[in-house]
Amino acid sequence: MQQGQPRIVIIGGGFGGLFTALELTNAGEVTLISREDHFLFTPMLYEYVSGEVEAWHIAPRYKELIDDQVRFVQGAVTEVDLAQREVAIEGRVRRIAYDVLVLAVGGVSNYAGVEGAEDHAIPFRKIAHADQLRQRMIETLDGVPPGSAPQDARRAATFAVVGAGASGVELATKMSDLLHDAFRRRGLSGDPRLLLIEMGDRVVPGMGGEMREFVEEALEKAHIEVHTHARVRRITPDGLVFEHNGEQTELQAAGVVWTGGVSVNPLVVNLNVEKDQRGLIIVEPTLQVRGHSDVFALGDTAYYPNVSPSLAGTAQLAYQQSGLVARNVRALLKGAPLDTKRFTELGEALSLGTENGAVLAGGRAFGGPLARQARFALYTQRLPTWHHRLRVSSSWFFEGTAPLPLGL
Ligand SMILES: Cc1cc2nc3c(=O)[nH]c(=O)nc-3n(C[C@H](O)[C@H](O)[C@H](O)COP(=O)(O)OP(=O)(O)OC[C@H]3O[C@@H](n4cnc5c(N)ncnc54)[C@H](O)[C@@H]3O)c2cc1C
Repeated sequence: MQQGQPRIVIIGGGFGGLFTALELTNAGEVTLISREDHFLFTPMLYEYVSGEVEAWHIAPRYKELIDDQVRFVQGAVTEVDLAQREVAIEGRVRRIAYDVLVLAVGGVSNYAGVEGAEDHAIPFRKIAHADQLRQRMIETLDGVPPGSAPQDARRAATFAVVGAGASGVELATKMSDLLHDAFRRRGLSGDPRLLLIEMGDRVVPGMGGEMREFVEEALEKAHIEVHTHARVRRITPDGLVFEHNGEQTELQAAGVVWTGGVSVNPLVVNLNVEKDQRGLIIVEPTLQVRGHSDVFALGDTAYYPNVSPSLAGTAQLAYQQSGLVARNVRALLKGAPLDTKRFTELGEALSLGTENGAVLAGGRAFGGPLARQARFALYTQRLPTWHHRLRVSSSWFFEGTAPLPLGL
């Protein structure tokens, strides 16, 4: 890298940060700082739990994605000093200075103050969480003695998913297929029990009726107990307590998975910039942070009004915004005018178990195994770098995408 080039620092290597970095190769001295050593294609974390995809498909290491033109620093940023134009990284004495900063640290699990949730629920945002969940399901099944009475096997293999947004639904249907399949393979009698607990009045509240029909059908087929208007009050090491119509139910569960929403990253909480009522950074239509023309923010950290409402807090939005940020960083460095853009929905694709899916594209929704295939095809195109896309698509084509049974 040449001396005297503008220093562009990107914090966060998710959909917003990684794709910005890939577009900014050669724009200056580019540094990508991220907590983990790998990117994560979150929309397929469900397929990772079920073994339909492997870690290297959806969580490639940054070193395999970015070339020498971008410096990668693994670490957690603890402070951004907007006045000195420096960022501090946990455990490092030297701070990293920037001329232009891109903030793309995403959000964190929102436990909504529910007692015990942070300590006892399994979150679902990272590869490590998916590993923990799969392991919990295997250990639970291993603990059911062969020949158990159906009601005993069912009680032992009870799991709950909190939150019936797209994430909760996709995860619950995947878990149900895996657990039912494991019961059959292990010769256990009866069925596992899976609850989906939602405080609102319906599942997938942000989605239109066409997609909800597929979702409701899939939940029914998977024998998932849906509890709407149900508020989780407490999570314990052995289960949870939820309330419906003022009545509390205590349930023993082998695992409670939390998909109950996203809140603001602590780094953003501590940043002294203008924010909206939820604590998201207010950005200009150019994605520059208000009052700080040398700082850009995008994805789950930023409030950007010029967007279809259904896109807020999605990978689709962060991905689309990365193109605008990269263009505007280049323009800023050249002294050229900055651009703005309205972002629109690219379509919706859901995984509904290991055999089915639902896709909404061009205003038309379709479901079933074909939708599952279409989702794989669609997501192949969204993975980072053509080289990685090629490797993954060959693997899916030649080696297949069958699930890996629990405990085999
Ligand atoms: C399980 C799951 C499934 C999802 N499915 C879909 C879907 O199907 N479609 C869709 O559109 N959206 C989906 N989303 C939402 C989508 O993942 C997010 O909206 C999107 O990732 C936001 O992009 P981002 O760049 O803002 O943040 P992220 O992609 O979350 O990236 C943030 C990055 O910052 C890093 N980081 C965080 N804090 C620090 C720090 N202090 N220092 C350094 N690095 C830090 C993180 O490690 C991470 O790499 C899903 C989310 C989850 C969790």
